[in-house]
This record gives sequence, structure tokens and C-alpha cells, in this order.
Amino acid sequence: MGTLYLVATPIGNLEDMTLRAIRVLREAPLIAAEDTRTTRVLLDRYQINTPMTSYHEHNKLTKLDAILAALEAGDVALVSDAGTPGISDPGYELVVAAIARGHTVTPIPGACAAISALAVSGLPTNAFVFEGFVPRKPSALARWIEAVRREPRTIVLYEAPHRLAKTVEAMANAFPQRRLVIACELTKMFESVWRGTCAAAGDYLRQHPPRGEYVLLLEGAVLEPAEQWTAAQVLRALNDRLAAGLTRRDAARDVAQQAGWNKRDVIALLHASPDSAEHLEDI
Ligand code: SAM
Repeated sequence: MGTLYLVATPIGNLEDMTLRAIRVLREAPLIAAEDTRTTRVLLDRYQINTPMTSYHEHNKLTKLDAILAALEAGDVALVSDAGTPGISDPGYELVVAAIARGHTVTPIPGACAAISALAVSGLPTNAFVFEGFVPRKPSALARWIEAVRREPRTIVLYEAPHRLAKTVEAMANAFPQRRLVIACELTKMFESVWRGTCAAAGDYLRQHPPRGEYVLLLEGAVLEPAEQWTAAQVLRALNDRLAAGLTRRDAARDVAQQAGWNKRDVIALLHASPDSAEHLEDI
């Protein structure tokens, strides 16, 4: 029974390789790589001679059986072109299949563009949602914008340079005053992080035509009191989460985020509600 290692690789700067990643890539009998030519550059830099096989978006289903067979015989290290495999990159189906067959799936953590950008964004990091790539079609993009209109958490997404202006324009039309962060070419020579409002982002992009790789980070909705949940809605949501097995602390935090309430107010409401008294001991 082999172990499937998900090995994170640099998102630009080849120095962002962990010692453990180098060791695992050296010791594994096989590396499954999104693009073997891209990974070859990394392997050469670290004198890693492990055999490679390709595992990418277009062969990930036909290749699945071969990689699972390799896992029966020994370990397999999965890498993508950059960053963490499975995060907007091939890996998900393989992880699911490996788990189903009883293999151990182990992370070798390292770079991830979304997390790196979030950390430096200056936007709230306590709660965020990762949206991957947003829809390309204008109608689907418009639906996506509506879906995140009331999202109170920081919204993190990836975008291709040639679509960046359109996505930012849609955000500016919907949320002109919301803060937006445009993180470009992180860890590379021309790394930049622009922080402003959605309304101001168009000008910035006209002055700095998109080139390279981008993470966009949109401030979550600050819900107006009228948009906030009522006390009855909050209590109902709390009871649902407690019934689903969440701890009281997690239920209160989750509901507070969703409801646009302060967590202390959610807890105070629980205290004031006789029906919920049995849920109170540990908050
Ligand atoms: N698995 C990768 C990860 O963990 O970050 C993401 C792979 S996804 C196919 C590639 C996208 O990630 C790019 O289009 C860009 O939006 C973002 N990205 C990757 N490297 C980046 C970098 N150095 N700076 C900014 N964004 C980056």
C-alpha cells in the first residue's frame, strides 16, 4: 500500500521549495507531474532523478488507473506546475480514488498563491472563501457576482491576465466602494500588491496592463442592519448547527459570520434564550 504525497512546489521563486519536498521527491519511486517539462526544471535544480509520468487536466481520468496501480506497488508524489496540487490544479480525483482504496494521502505543504496573497492582502484573514477561477461567460459572471453580494467573508480568486479587466469591471459596477487587492507575480521579480477600491481598480489596470499571474481578493460584504438576520433567524441557525453536531463555539462563530452579527451578540442571544440554555456550558 503506497502513500500518495501531495507535494507543493514554488509559485515562482524556486527557493520556495521545502527540504521535505526535496526529500520526498527524491525518495518516491514515481512523480506524477502536471507538465513533466515544467517539473523537469525544478527537479534539475535540486538534482532529483526520480522517474516522472504526466497527470494533467486532459488525461487525469484515463491516467487514474495507472497511477492507482503504481500506488499499489509503492509511493507516488503528485506535483502540479506550481503551488499546491488539487488547488485549481489536477489532484482532486486522484485524492478521492486513493482515499477510497485505503491509501494514505499526505500533504507536503508549501506555496499556494491564494494563501500567500491573502496573508499579505490586509483584508480580514479570519474567515475567507476561495472561489478558484470565476466564470468566463458574462451571464455566468453576473450570476456569480449576485451569489457573492451578501458574502461577508474575504473572497479570494484566481484570474487570467486577459480576463482581469472584465472581472474587475464587473466588481466595480456591483461593489464600487469595496476594498479590492490585486496580487501579481507573487514571489517573482515583478511581484506587486495593489490595494484600493473596486472603483479605483480600473484606472490602476489601465496604467499597469495585466501581465503575469494574478490573485484577486475582494472585501466581504459589510451587511447593513436591514440586511442582517433577525434574532429568530439567528437562533434557528444556531439550533440547526448544534443539531448537526457543531460545537457551541463553532456554531456561534459560523452563525455570526453568516448573519452579519457580532459573535458576542450571538452568544448573548443564546444566553437570553431559555430554549437554548442546554447548549451554553462551554461558551
Ligand atoms: N495550485 C496553484 C496554487 O496552489 O496556488 C494554483 C494553480 S492555478 C492553475 C494557477 C493560478 O494561480 C494562476 O492563474 C494565478 O491566478 C494564480 N497564481 C499562481 N502563481 C501565482 C503567482 N506567483 N502570483 C499570483 N498568482 C499566482
